[in-house]
Amino acid sequence: MIGITNIYPYLPHYRLKVDSINRAWNRSPGKGERAIANYDEDVITMSVNTISSLKQGWDDIDFLIHATTSSPFIEESSSDLIAYILGMNNNCLNLNINQSLTSGTTALHIGFNLLNQYKKGLIISADRRDIQSGDDFEKVIGDGACAIEIGTENILAKLEAFSSLSDFGYDTWKLKDDVSVKKSDEKFANEVKIDNLETVGRELLVKNNLQISDIEWIIVADSQSKLTKTIGNRLGFTPEQQFISSLNNEVGYLGVTSGFLYLNELLLKANAGERVMLLQSGSGVDGYIFSVTDNVESFKRENDLKTQVTSKKVVDNYNEALVRRGLLKVVELKPYATKTYLRRERENNLRLRAQRCKECGFIHFPERPNCHHCHSRETMEWLWLERTGTIVTFTHDHVFPGSIEPMTMVVVDLDGGGRIFTQMTDLSTEQVKIGDRVKLSFRKFHEGGDFPNYYWKATPILKGGDLT
Ligand SMILES: [Zn+2]
Repeated sequence: MIGITNIYPYLPHYRLKVDSINRAWNRSPGKGERAIANYDEDVITMSVNTISSLKQGWDDIDFLIHATTSSPFIEESSSDLIAYILGMNNNCLNLNINQSLTSGTTALHIGFNLLNQYKKGLIISADRRDIQSGDDFEKVIGDGACAIEIGTENILAKLEAFSSLSDFGYDTWKLKDDVSVKKSDEKFANEVKIDNLETVGRELLVKNNLQISDIEWIIVADSQSKLTKTIGNRLGFTPEQQFISSLNNEVGYLGVTSGFLYLNELLLKANAGERVMLLQSGSGVDGYIFSVTDNVESFKRENDLKTQVTSKKVVDNYNEALVRRGLLKVVELKPYATKTYLRRERENNLRLRAQRCKECGFIHFPERPNCHHCHSRETMEWLWLERTGTIVTFTHDHVFPGSIEPMTMVVVDLDGGGRIFTQMTDLSTEQVKIGDRVKLSFRKFHEGGDFPNYYWKATPILKGGDLT
């Protein structure tokens, strides 16, 4: 048996209300909110943060497939970078699938086929699609990521069927130098899209000798929630079987990662033994039928999608949202950086690994040649630092260049030992207190050397509800 063994979502903390967009452009009020990545988040950081706090060193993963339409890199492998940061073995097979909104579901199909040779794989999908300010599509798109773990044991959703239809040239596109995703006429796009979705839905049933009565749920992943109803009706699903995700309204349409997150949302509601049809539109359509196993009950207890959706910080000011999204530039910080530094310091900066003195056990971060504590020159051993800790002290830097609010620098004592000096992010400065519990989140630090430089920053621990 092969299938999905777990799903790990990641949503940025910030939300922009559709109403705030409408107010900025003197339009009539609208409903819903969009998850927007902060200025220090990109597809790489969101992908890492899907699973980085769960454990250190994912060395049991045989392959990683990264799927996105919005990698910060045109050349340079995002999957290799993510695999390194997450501590996968350097013989882990890393692949990138890009350029289509079906990249995530296509990556999943490739992953299932790789399970003929390997035991365990990860598909990480993420999107942070920029939209020109004032474009109507701005009210639709959100940012986020989702990791899907697949394997042959402890299956959560068993793979029953896959079908795919290839097509192009009717919906969204983006050229190399474009700031924004472009969209063709909705009526024209829908004519092609609806036909494609219906065709794949029917193929899934016919090829596998299944009737509508064999399937409990249908989900259509698209920027228009209404298509679930359109396709559901065409295929003969009752309104009760048509799963209309609330995510398009709560966090926006999340591109490549949308189908995975809708499936996550549905599994929080589905029962063991039920079958789910998932259709993802993009360049053509990918379709799956999964059957839910008994493991869905432990998944419901552990999965934190709901906490992530409800833990949020609403940005009222439209200009602030543009700055956070990188569409409106304030002073740009360009510190000195080179690839030599990046490589030399990558165990510390990217993996958050420290050195422990073999003589006295003192933990040094960043690394150093001899022990600061006992002055031993004996060899040090590497260890992974924990991603949670407690604020020891902090300061607000009011003249930090390019920052929206004063930059809060914190010293954090990490659980399990080690101390880190870093920036605080996703939290109003006045809320920071000594003794606060924080989590470390992988973030973009700056773009010195003309490449993104990443590091770990402190963020609040999510509990659901508004972040202040
Ligand atoms: Zn020592």
